[in-house]
Amino acid sequence: MDKSKWDYSVFWKETLNLLRSELSEQEIGMWFNNIVYSSSTDKKIILSVPSSFYRDQLKERYLARIGKLLKDLSGSEIEIDFIINKSSPPPKKAPSKKSSSLKEEKKITDQVTRKIHPDLRQDYSFENFVVGDNNSFAANASMAIAKNPGKTYNPCLIYGGVGLGKTHLIQSIGRYAHNSIDDIRVVYVTAEQFTNEFIQAIKENKQHQFKNKYRKVDILLIDDIHFLQSKDATQEELFHTFNALYDSNKQMVFTCDRPVSELKNLTDRLKSRFERGLNVDLMPPSFETRIAILKKKIEEKNVIISDDVVEIICQNVTSHVRDLEAALTKLIAYADLLNKNITVEIAKHQLKDMFANPQLNNITIDVIQRVVADYFNLTPNDLRGKKRTKAIAFPRQIAMYITREITEYSTTEVGLEFGGRDHTTVMHACQRVDSKMKADPSIEPYIRNLIQKIKETGTKL
Ligand code: ADP
Ligand code: MG
Repeated sequence: MDKSKWDYSVFWKETLNLLRSELSEQEIGMWFNNIVYSSSTDKKIILSVPSSFYRDQLKERYLARIGKLLKDLSGSEIEIDFIINKSSPPPKKAPSKKSSSLKEEKKITDQVTRKIHPDLRQDYSFENFVVGDNNSFAANASMAIAKNPGKTYNPCLIYGGVGLGKTHLIQSIGRYAHNSIDDIRVVYVTAEQFTNEFIQAIKENKQHQFKNKYRKVDILLIDDIHFLQSKDATQEELFHTFNALYDSNKQMVFTCDRPVSELKNLTDRLKSRFERGLNVDLMPPSFETRIAILKKKIEEKNVIISDDVVEIICQNVTSHVRDLEAALTKLIAYADLLNKNITVEIAKHQLKDMFANPQLNNITIDVIQRVVADYFNLTPNDLRGKKRTKAIAFPRQIAMYITREITEYSTTEVGLEFGGRDHTTVMHACQRVDSKMKADPSIEPYIRNLIQKIKETGTKL
């Protein structure tokens, strides 16, 4: 290569200037500020970029446009070639043992250690998401979105029952993009938080800030949109947020506990927005996938549990992944406390409640209120009513606490079912029961007992 003979750096500079006038500041910042002109050869410009991911994105998004500009400026075809310049070599992680998770993420997480995103959990990543037949479509679509936000499947809606990995996947998308794309703005909220923030913004007359927050993102992730049912004003706001982001090709991902068509009290126009892109479902995992997931969790927790025990858990806990984890946590706590190895007998004994009643899905607040009221010689109406005498207030708090423990209802939903109370009242109730349990060891057993009764009643229905 003879630098003096070929020097297209001027054309490159001019191309950049033209692109600056065409693209948003944010796109320039994200994709062009990290490119360094390296050299030229005959009909070729060589640019240095920080990673192969970055190169692939540039090629896909802008190469055609850059080629055209270069041709207009120079009057001939000039090709672009990229070299990768990693200024700091990636830190090596100890290779994790066998895993059927989405391996690609390793490369990304190894590449750079970034600032942790405040709203995303560190343990929800593609790397520790086990892919099986039940979720492979959703997992692969999520990965494609994370690598190419706004490009492939937009919007995307992931739906499925409780504890099947919706939050894990949607957060993995955010985490991956946050870790791999410079300055990308990722916002993750639950639909409940979105609603509460919106209400707060109206109260404080800060709608403008609210709009700014949600309409100026690169990736908007909203978890559990079923929560928006009957929230008309919030639906309206989300509708406009959606349109603004969609028009500027910003990625949106939503999760829901059922197909959008089955949502009630959601405006048709919002439904049609959710259904516009890709809708993928998560199914309950098969026995083999349950084994793989449980083994992965065991590996993460760095404990030793025999295959017999893993099998017995997976044979009996069939409902969802969250219960598999709960079973594991219980066994580990037991083994830790008593300093014992976990045998099949111990597992069977310790997990007998879970094994007997794996399905918690049909437990309604109504059942909880009936069982708790009965236990305290009250009526369900007492729990839902306004009276705040001690004899009613504490059972009511216990019923709220149990609801949060064993169901998926949000604090707002629980509040509504307990006489239209505010979600902060529910949070307060849960904290109070928690601290009372810590202060008085006699409370926990009867709460466990109540939970057992509720499960029995629930499964008989
Ligand atoms: P959902 O949001 O659908 O109710 P979550 O995403 O909260 O479910 O998942 C419940 C738990 O199960 C989480 O701890 C999650 O890490 C775990 N989980 C679910 N699916 C998988 C999977 N395929 N691989 C690993 N962990 C999983
Ligand atoms: Mg969830």
